[in-house]
Amino acid sequence: MNAYLDHAATTPLLDCAREAMVGALGHTGNASSLHAAGRASRRRTEESREAIADALGVSPHAVIFTAGGTEADNLAVKGIWWARTARDPSRRRILTTRIEHHAVLDAVHWLGEHEGAEVVWLEVDASGRVDVEQLRTELEAQPGSTALVAVMWANNEVGTVQPIAQIADACKQAGVPLHVDAVQAVGSIPVDAALPDSMAFSAHKLGGPLGVGALIARRRLDLAPLTHGGGQERQVRSGTVDVPSIVGFAAAVEHMLAGIEDRARRTAALRDSLLAGIQAVAPEAIVNGAVGGVDARVPGNAHLSFPGCENDALMMLLDSAGVEASTGSACSAGVPEPSHVLLAMGIDPAQARSSLRFSLGHTSTPADVEALLAALPTALDRAGRAGQVRAGGQLAAAGRTGS
Ligand code: PLP
Repeated sequence: MNAYLDHAATTPLLDCAREAMVGALGHTGNASSLHAAGRASRRRTEESREAIADALGVSPHAVIFTAGGTEADNLAVKGIWWARTARDPSRRRILTTRIEHHAVLDAVHWLGEHEGAEVVWLEVDASGRVDVEQLRTELEAQPGSTALVAVMWANNEVGTVQPIAQIADACKQAGVPLHVDAVQAVGSIPVDAALPDSMAFSAHKLGGPLGVGALIARRRLDLAPLTHGGGQERQVRSGTVDVPSIVGFAAAVEHMLAGIEDRARRTAALRDSLLAGIQAVAPEAIVNGAVGGVDARVPGNAHLSFPGCENDALMMLLDSAGVEASTGSACSAGVPEPSHVLLAMGIDPAQARSSLRFSLGHTSTPADVEALLAALPTALDRAGRAGQVRAGGQLAAAGRTGS
């Protein structure tokens, strides 16, 4: 069996979620229909909403079901921006970071290009942690012109956890709504969902099904809809709700949030053994991201650069040896791009292109770590030689051009 070390991309479905979904799939009924079958579907949806709200310590009214994290982020960023600028057109600023997931980053860019939003980039330090003082200064300077602040809870590439309590406090003082992308945090570390004004998360990152997620949105948060239609989900997310997925999502949230501290401790211990093992077989490897407990870095994340190796080659070599990891960065038109997250942290492009993410989750075992450590020396050796050949070829080509 392959060693799956890509839980941050998606993590296996929990048995309890599968069973709950299989049960729900056997029932017909649109949750908006008024007959008995519809009412039964509505009841399952509302029970799931309550279970998720209870597990997170928020009101059921705050839970808006979406088709995943991307949609929840888009609904928050665009929905808050449209609602706030409709009330006061002078609120055109969005304060955010360059390390956000594309679900936030591209929504912000889109608002900049098409709606005239002014984007203010908050700096992050070398570990990927946001500068709260800069946020306070920006908010104090122009609170009235800011539509929203968007900062992720935990980064999907390097796992750095942001000081959300301090960020929420700064936003509250300024009276500016805060959206938090908590897709990599919920189910991995304890989160206080009452801190932000809105919070996105996704079922498939915590043992639930693919294609369902939620936005937790405070009752009085102004939110314009992205989809128009039947008026489901507080009139901001029209569309027939996916009852079986929602039922599976709720089962996964309840399971993952019960005993989260113990699971986080166990996962962090396994991750630390993975890091120690890599440093023993590849002392040249550089660990990227924050160091510390679960308030600094999510427990399942290990992110390293392997100088002299191209990460795509290394990933494919590990894959052929049965070890599944991730480069974490986008590939545009077949050309690997250095990760925008690593560049924002001040890491140079060559180091960024040599980086891999290993992410552990609820099914990870010491055998997964052992499989990686067994495969890594050969993969590094081959990727390193391929890198030398490539560099040699480039030098030769440059020499030919010059002569
Ligand atoms: N935000 C973060 C931080 C993520 O890691 C991801 C997925 O990788 C998303 C948003 C998007 O979530 P989904 O896959 O549910 O659309």
